[in-house]
Amino acid sequence: MRNGLVTDVTRIERTLPTIRDLQAKGARVIVISHFGRPMGQHNPEMSLRPVAMALQTSLGQDVLFGADCIGTAAMAAINSADNGEVVVLENLRFHAGEEANDDTFAQAMADLADVYVNDAFSCSHRAHASTEAIVHLLPSAAGRLMKSELQALSGVLDSPKRPVAAVVGGAKISTKMEVLGNLASKVDQLIIGGGMANTFLFAKGVSVGKSLFEPDMAGQAQDIMAGATKAGCEIVLPVDATVAQAFKAGATNQTVPVDAVSANSMILDVGPASINDLVQRLGRCRTVLWNGPLGAFEISPFDTGTNIVACEAARLTQDGLLLSVAGGGDTVAALANAGALDQFSYVSTAGGAFLEWLEGKTLPGVAALKE
Ligand code: AMP
Repeated sequence: MRNGLVTDVTRIERTLPTIRDLQAKGARVIVISHFGRPMGQHNPEMSLRPVAMALQTSLGQDVLFGADCIGTAAMAAINSADNGEVVVLENLRFHAGEEANDDTFAQAMADLADVYVNDAFSCSHRAHASTEAIVHLLPSAAGRLMKSELQALSGVLDSPKRPVAAVVGGAKISTKMEVLGNLASKVDQLIIGGGMANTFLFAKGVSVGKSLFEPDMAGQAQDIMAGATKAGCEIVLPVDATVAQAFKAGATNQTVPVDAVSANSMILDVGPASINDLVQRLGRCRTVLWNGPLGAFEISPFDTGTNIVACEAARLTQDGLLLSVAGGGDTVAALANAGALDQFSYVSTAGGAFLEWLEGKTLPGVAALKE
């Protein structure tokens, strides 16, 4: 959302199959959602009214709007809709009861409807009234998007075609410790790139110059490597790197083996030998799970590693040789930059929920549906 307008309708469009399915069955579809962090207060800057307008455009038909998500304003909007029509209600987070998973607030929502459908995998890592408490009050089901997220994710980690590799990149290992630990116990190869590879290299005694790395995490990186060895998982680190003296457009860069990074340079991408190694490895895998860029992809040419390896994963997927699932944080932007986004088997639009699932955690919203 920028200046009160929706600028990217991806997430809205992904909910259309569920909405259309319910409409076709004659339901009056009440759409509830949240936006921003209004902290339980009404805040006109975080109204869902622009979202209702964007949904109207995507659906190609009128969408009604209720100025509150519970009570008389919500009921009035719902009562003015015919069966088969869609009503968007105001931001759930204007009520403190939403994030508090409050039963009274959930009951006020449940009073509006006959059936609850959760199509928000991306919110289901939070036990909120609209994802958890409400499930105990209405007959509940998973929507089409939720179902496809769960199917794609379980196909990768629960019963994958092997060999299975995980590519984990991004800035810092401190944000992905649990992800790395869980993946090391499940996949055959854990390919580590991006800034986090620097901490692993440092932990192995390699000096990484001015690169982004976390010296305090070296012990944890060693633990992950030891755990992986025990579990029979190969940890794959870059063998060479593209380095520069500054992270800026047009900075002079060169390729060096990882053990030859000078004190005043920084690793900003994996190098050509590493890229070649990863391309070969993907060719031998049947499943790949991808989270995070292999380099500082926002500035060219440091997107080269991410681009080439992502395009190879996309090509293998299109040839029917690889199941590829990606998601979390900057991954969608990095794959879009590579032009590979639409050719992966599945790209999750969930950020935090995708990472918590990668950590092996139970997501409360999903658990409630399963009960
Ligand atoms: P994350 O949100 O953890 O997936 O991290 C994504 C960020 O990691 C992007 O902004 C990248 O620019 C950054 N990143 C990846 N590789 C490096 C690197 N070698 N040095 C600095 N930043 C990096």
